[in-house]
Amino acid sequence: MIGDAAGYDGIILGAGHNALILAAYLGRAGLRMLAIDRAAVAGGGLATAEYPLGSGFLHNPHAFFQRAVTAMPWYSDLDLERRGASYIEPELNVALLTRDGGALEWWTDIERTIASVAQFSRRDAATLRRWHDEFVPIVQQILGPENRSPPLPPTQRRALLERTPSGRRLLEVSAASPLEFVQREFEHPTVMAGLLFFNGLREVDMRVRGFGHHIAALIASPAKAQMSRGGSAALARALEAAMRASGGEIRLLTEPARIVVEDSRAIGIETRDGEMIRARTLIASSLNPQQTFRELLDPSAVPAEIRDRAGRFQYNLLAPLFALHLNLHETPQYQAAATHFELAQAFMTIIGLDRVDQFFEIIRHHEAGTIPPTVMWGACPTMFDSTQAPAGKHTAFMWEKVPYRLEGDAANWERARDGHGRVMLDLWQQYAPNLRDAVIESFVRSPLDIERSLPNMREADLLVGAFTNDQIGYHRPFPGAGAYRTHIRNLYLCGSSSHPGGNITGLPGYNAAQAILGDLGIRADWMPPPITVGLAAP
Ligand SMILES: Cc1cc2nc3c(=O)[nH]c(=O)nc-3n(C[C@H](O)[C@H](O)[C@H](O)COP(=O)(O)OP(=O)(O)OC[C@H]3O[C@@H](n4cnc5c(N)ncnc54)[C@H](O)[C@@H]3O)c2cc1C
Repeated sequence: MIGDAAGYDGIILGAGHNALILAAYLGRAGLRMLAIDRAAVAGGGLATAEYPLGSGFLHNPHAFFQRAVTAMPWYSDLDLERRGASYIEPELNVALLTRDGGALEWWTDIERTIASVAQFSRRDAATLRRWHDEFVPIVQQILGPENRSPPLPPTQRRALLERTPSGRRLLEVSAASPLEFVQREFEHPTVMAGLLFFNGLREVDMRVRGFGHHIAALIASPAKAQMSRGGSAALARALEAAMRASGGEIRLLTEPARIVVEDSRAIGIETRDGEMIRARTLIASSLNPQQTFRELLDPSAVPAEIRDRAGRFQYNLLAPLFALHLNLHETPQYQAAATHFELAQAFMTIIGLDRVDQFFEIIRHHEAGTIPPTVMWGACPTMFDSTQAPAGKHTAFMWEKVPYRLEGDAANWERARDGHGRVMLDLWQQYAPNLRDAVIESFVRSPLDIERSLPNMREADLLVGAFTNDQIGYHRPFPGAGAYRTHIRNLYLCGSSSHPGGNITGLPGYNAAQAILGDLGIRADWMPPPITVGLAAP
């Protein structure tokens, strides 16, 4: 029965941002929701921590750069600004600093981005404009709405796309790999490297065909990097408030031991402490497929084929990050800013990347389990938000992609982490020499630390599952559990292992809410029109 005050209609496993978004929408539809999480604080990747304790220096150990959060439908639907969320979107959004003192810049204003690319290659600047103009309507009419809706079966999707000129063009461009696209369209090695870097940030393997449209979509997308004022956790607190306002509850430091199934229905959760918590209507898991199908469901409740597919779900080779965090007396002052004054206001800064062929080297090292020559990116959050450090002081961080299994075993990060932090600081100081005297404190986090704090990010894959052709869209995480539904009628998926994947998009939770309410026969006024209507439009 929906809305009964005693007990819960639904239980969500995990209380990261996708879970909280789903819970808030279901709560608004009248369902009494509970989210349970093993951590001491809700929000998952939306975390902010003080280091050292009591110092006033705040760090965001997981998600920091959040693309277009303020344009997400749930941000306004759930009234998050009234609940304390607030975002900053610096105009010089990204700067790639080259070793010779140059800078390739991405601005919120496309004209300024094109002008920066023109300093490297006039031909590439013209190409960038052409792809931007061609893909703006494709992003607006197809790719954006597809991300915000439960995915369609691939044959139905293809048939709809083939009906319109933009749909046909998207299919044509997708056929290549991102690498083939960049090699075919662009000429300057730094411009090519910059474009493939963004592709890599979204964790798409640049060699895989079927993703050729990714770079064009990134060029055309209005979604730029934003940061949460007060730290990433501020968004988690606003989402928690939205969930509680809809009657929901969160239980922390609570770990599920099993999902209890009776007569082919999920009827509740048994916790590791032996408590049984019942759910009348549904259970949704924001955890990864191995956790949901192999650790929490009894093998008797999972057909062998589904168990097998869940076991084979793959994680991104290039996703694990190594982080170096600094407490500073002053902001990093990059040498390149002596000639490019605007760099003093750059948000994301990339260093160590000059040539496109470095990517091949990085992939080779990841496959071999060795650390590649450092390419890193990061920011100085306090340049834009002084609340994240004591008055006059600053914080800054850099991330680098490193292999999870260092020399064959992730445990090797325990002995290698401090030394690797020094390698990163040394490179950083070559670009910003004032860092030799400005550091007050520092700490590092390795892929092992990520997996320990968020075990759903298996193998430290912060996107919780690779983007390969058989793990995307309708088939994410795998055929038989796509589109948020599982083989158990009232057990759903709502985390980053589902379409459209990881990062702070909230869209797996938003789309799962559409699927679940649809199954319950509830139509809410916030729901977008069915994607079949949007894709069929000329
Ligand atoms: C170092 C790092 C940097 C990142 N940078 C960015 C960035 O700049 N921009 C961006 O958009 N994204 C970034 N991400 C990725 C982003 O944080 C994730 O993709 C996102 O948090 C996934 O959201 P989610 O709600 O699906 O899962 P999560 O945020 O991971 O939440 C899952 C929740 O489940 C809980 N949980 C796990 N296992 C269990 C269990 N067995 N029982 C109970 N609870 C459990 C966890 O404690 C967690 O609270 C980064 C991640 C990392 C690690």
